[in-house]
Amino acid sequence: MATNNFLDYNPWTLAIKIHEFSEVGSSEFMSSELIENILENNGFRVERSYKGIPTSFRAEMTVGNGGSTIAFLAEYDALMGIGHACGHNLIAAANVFAAIDASRKIRNGKIVVIGTPDEEGTGEYSGSKILLAEKGAFRDIDLVLGAHPGSEWNVFGQALAVQDVEVTFKGQSSHEAANPDQGRSALDAAILTYTAVNMLRQHVRRDANVVMHGVIREGGGASNVTPDRSVLVFGIRSSDLDYHAVLMKRFENIVKGCCIATETEYTIRRIGPLFSTVKPNRTLSNFIREIIVSRGIEVPTVEDTMKRLPGGSTDFANVTHVVPSLELHFQIAPHGTPWHSKQSLEAARSPEAKKSLSTVIEVLSEAAQKYMSDAGLRKKIRDEFERPVG
Ligand SMILES: [Zn+2]
Repeated sequence: MATNNFLDYNPWTLAIKIHEFSEVGSSEFMSSELIENILENNGFRVERSYKGIPTSFRAEMTVGNGGSTIAFLAEYDALMGIGHACGHNLIAAANVFAAIDASRKIRNGKIVVIGTPDEEGTGEYSGSKILLAEKGAFRDIDLVLGAHPGSEWNVFGQALAVQDVEVTFKGQSSHEAANPDQGRSALDAAILTYTAVNMLRQHVRRDANVVMHGVIREGGGASNVTPDRSVLVFGIRSSDLDYHAVLMKRFENIVKGCCIATETEYTIRRIGPLFSTVKPNRTLSNFIREIIVSRGIEVPTVEDTMKRLPGGSTDFANVTHVVPSLELHFQIAPHGTPWHSKQSLEAARSPEAKKSLSTVIEVLSEAAQKYMSDAGLRKKIRDEFERPVG
């Protein structure tokens, strides 16, 4: 295929191309450029480097006399070290081509595609949806739709709030045999902190789905030199946003205490913005669910899904607090397939993915068409957004 003829691209060839590019967060230059060109060639007006984020964009097309505005969110970042094992290549293809399809079928309305880099939180624009929301990217949007691949079809995904933090400890180096009394070990501070977090786990709210995972990224060089620097990275998660703030405070208290104990110093840096929990919209979820079910696909009910323990986190969750939004999940791998794995890497370019991709494009496009032509539905979704139920 001639890569300069962007009209030649279809959803599958785009998905495969982005899988090949395998660009990590904030560096998705080839992926975003290819998508921008495809959208431009399909009649969308494209603004590149949207809101000052180099690999973000905003593409839009107004049909008829405008009316409501739907934004599809495209992700295209790969995971460091493994590639497209989260299937974001399919997120890009699904949302871009659903937008193109919808723009040809609606009579009135505005279809927008926003490129949202670095969902995995690797680079400078980690959690770009949060940065975009802060910069007002969703202010003129009535509805946000998205689609993420996984091991089942679903219309409501809970998410844990998460904040990554990096703690750097500063100690005093010294000869470990000749002058051990003069050394202050930054590694000891890191290990004490790691251990104390293990103890904290027993004394947290059981209903708040607390998850705390960490690594020691730096811990010294030679065994006979007291490490004067160590770096610890922790991810702190909870399904309760308010309680998450309490956990952050308790984590910092641990760091403080461990520094007193080891006579070291610390600095804490938050890596990227806080990923939020999801604000559910049952009207919207049920609306999308009906469209999927009408194709003979099994989808758990929203109520059933809400009872499950939330697993991951996403910056899409933050968008649900700003505008009525839904990221549906579509199946590309057998139930229970581990994600961010070699299996999901292969699933993201498998025949199953190809089949689901065309279905999900139809689903998203149909949702857009129905939403645009149904004022009652739009009001119901908006009302629930403003007055959430339970
Ligand atoms: Zn993902």
